Order: sequence, then C-alpha cells, then structure tokens
Amino acid sequence: MEYISTRGNVKAKGFIDTVLMGLADDGGLMVPFQIPVISPEKLAEWRSLSFQELFLEIFSYYTNDEIPYDALKEMVYTSYSNFRAPEVTPLHKVNNSLYVLELFHGPTFAFKDVALQFMGELYSYIAKVRGEIIHILGATSGDTGAAAIQGVRGKEGIKICILHPHGKVSKVQELQMTTVDDSNVLNLSVEGNFDDCQKVIKELFADLDFKGKYHLRAINSINFVRILAQTVYYFYAYLQIEGSDEKKINISVPSGNFGNIFSGYLAKKMGLPVNKLIIATNENNILERFVNTGEYKPGSFTSTYSPSMDIQVASNFERYLYYLVGEDAEKLSAYMSKLQTEGKITIAGEALQQVQADFAALGVKNQQCLDTIGKYNEEYDYLLDPHTACGIAAYEQFNGAGETAITFATAHPAKFDESIALVGIKQEFPEQIAALFSLPQHQTVVEHDKDVIVRELQAFYE
Ligand SMILES: *Cc1c(COP(=O)(O)O)cnc(C)c1O
Repeated sequence: MEYISTRGNVKAKGFIDTVLMGLADDGGLMVPFQIPVISPEKLAEWRSLSFQELFLEIFSYYTNDEIPYDALKEMVYTSYSNFRAPEVTPLHKVNNSLYVLELFHGPTFAFKDVALQFMGELYSYIAKVRGEIIHILGATSGDTGAAAIQGVRGKEGIKICILHPHGKVSKVQELQMTTVDDSNVLNLSVEGNFDDCQKVIKELFADLDFKGKYHLRAINSINFVRILAQTVYYFYAYLQIEGSDEKKINISVPSGNFGNIFSGYLAKKMGLPVNKLIIATNENNILERFVNTGEYKPGSFTSTYSPSMDIQVASNFERYLYYLVGEDAEKLSAYMSKLQTEGKITIAGEALQQVQADFAALGVKNQQCLDTIGKYNEEYDYLLDPHTACGIAAYEQFNGAGETAITFATAHPAKFDESIALVGIKQEFPEQIAALFSLPQHQTVVEHDKDVIVRELQAFYE
C-alpha cells in the first residue's frame, strides 16, 4: 500500500517513509492510497484473536511487507508487555447497555500509550535498519508528552524533546514527564499555553531545511501510524461483545484533536459495522458545532476539567474532510486555504447530511462532567476520569433504546485528581503514580520565544 497527502502534492510513499514524514511536505496529512476492506467472514474469524494478534492482522494490510512479519511481531509483543492488563485494553461492563473500554493500562495511564508504546518500538526499529537519526519533537497538553517519553526513553538512536505549557498540565502529567532521567529526553517547560507550544512546533516542522538538518520526527496524531494503531482497539472492543454483529453498537469517544475518533472512522471504512460514532468534547465544542451546523470555526480557548481535550484546532479534522469531499485533494486544499484566510469552513446540504450520518457530537459542560463522575461513582462504584465522564455523558444523550454502547476510558482518574477532588471523592493512587511524587524533576523553563527554543534544541541535538 502506498500513502498520499490529503493536499495531493507529495509523491506516493511507502509505510516507513510515511511514518518518518509525519506532516506531509505539502502541509497536508498522509492517508492510505486505498483503504482495505475486511469482509464479514474475516471479521468473524477475528473474534477469537488476542489484542496483539489482531494488531498484527490489521497492520499486515498496511505495512506492505516493508517490515518482516517476525520483526513486526516482536515489536507488537514488546510494546504491550508492560501493560498492567493481559487484554491490553479490557472491556468493563457497567450495565446492560454500557461497556467501558479501559485504554489506560499502559505506563502513563492514558490511551496514548497504546499507540505510542508501539511507535517507540517502531522508531527504534527504523533507526536500526535504516541507520536513521531520530529526533522526536512535539508539544503536549500533558498526555502525549508523557506517553511519547515513556515510549522512547533510553532507546538507542533516538532523542526526544517535548514542550509543555509551564504550570498548565496536571501535577501527575508533569511528574510523569519530568521525573524521567534518561539522557535522551529533554523537557522544555514553556511560559505560555498549549497553543503557543504547538505553534512553535508547527513553525519548526514547516521549515523543511531545519526539519531535514536536525532529522525532526513527529509523534503527534498527525502521524498516520498512531491513527492506525488506534483502530485496533475499535475492532477488539466490538469483537469482545458477544453477538455484536446482531446488535447496534455505538462508540463514544472523548475527543480533542480528532485523532482517536478518526481511527474509529477509519475502522468503519474498513468494514467494522459500528452504528453511531459519538464525538464527546468539553466546553471547547468546535466539533459539536461542526456536526450540528456544518460550521468549523476555531474559537477562543476555555480551560476545563478535562484539559487533554482543551483544543481548538483539531489537527486530524483535515483527514476526515478529505474523505467528506470524495478524496478530492484540490477541493480539500481549497477548504484548507479558506480556513486560513476566513478563519472558518462551512459545509452544507448533502455533505452536512453525510457528516450527521457519520457522527453525533456533544460538548459536555463543566458541571455536567462533574455530575457524571459523581453519579457513576455512586450508582456503579466505578470512578470515571473527567475525559471519560464527557464520553459517558454523550453516550447518555445519544444511545437509543435497545442499542449498546462502548465508551472509551481515555485516562485513569488518578491522572486528574484535581478534577476528581472537586466532586468530593478521595481516591487512592496506584503505586506507580504515588511513587512519582518523591522523585527529582528534570526540566528547563523557557520563555515562549522561538529563537530561545531553537537554541535549546541545537544544544541538545549536537
Ligand atoms: C489526548 C486525549 C484525548 C483526546 O484525544 P484526540 O485523539 O486528541 O481526540 C482525550 N482524553 C484524554 C485523556 C487524552 O489524553
């Protein structure tokens, strides 16, 4: 399989080159030339597979034998060997209409571990077989950075620098990133907000000379391999439910950058018979407005109890738009330049009907988020983290009579104790998290200034 850019100006690439490219050189996002479709018979066969086996099956459609099967297999098994659940992503039944897929059993207690543990192994493999220098650079609102650092710490041939907004990530997130003492890790704590960090990163990646000179690689969800790794648990969750082929299964996904939910869209295009894909966001509800009105317009940033979804510009949205306009790169490019010049995109008519057939969406208010945590703790003795709580609130809104829903638990509640405490719930931390509080931290606080950041990077890379 080859990969092309949504904007149509990149020569088709293989799997490894697509991983290395990250953001496409023409400013677009890489997508498969053609999405493989899994037959219902094949799906039925997959019911008995473990998470790791399913991962291998799905990836075999996408890696074009660029990676020998045994090498891929070793990477997959190593990636998930340090998860705290043998199923990797266990499905928890809450009641007759609701299951929660727990995606937080990896090293940093958030769903991003699922893709980033694998990506760490993959980058390490590429560094070895290609003799490539891998310098990972990324910005984080908390979870991506921690998961990416855990994915590559101590690995040969790889250095990682992560920018996070100073004092604006949760305490546990900060500790997970900064207590790592491997010499291939640099934490820059930037005096500014997440969007400021993200902007610097975007400028550095857009500077193709700088990107090439320093071998910069991306770990954010613009990288297609992250999207693909996330499709695995959509299949896995669906196949775990007995008789799911005779049920209407909805999946509710706490969403920010549109990465996780786009993986669901891809899984559906590959033939997974999901009924409704539900986008759950918080008061940063750009996606809810888009689905309901057709207007995609980044607005002003609001801080909420679910900070990993405090995002205005949903990077992966471009991938969805590409399919919405019929894989027409020219049309897509026109929309993206419209977004640049006018600050919004508007979809209407049949295309909007298509959007509403693809997704339902809810922007959950702060109080509703806390109320949902309280309610499920009381009624089901099940503690939700604030992101998952948004997913549950959206499930309650959209799950029809007789339908079954899977809500993704994207983080462990211990990561967001600041929000849990507001509900008046006192939780006990898992020991791996409790242990972080006594470790020394390693980070460099920097002004929000591109030149200052570039100097720090040069010193780290050279
Ligand atoms: C990153 C994150 C999200 C949002 O995921 P996207 O792929 O950006 O939509 C939701 N919840 C948690 C806990 C996260 O870390």
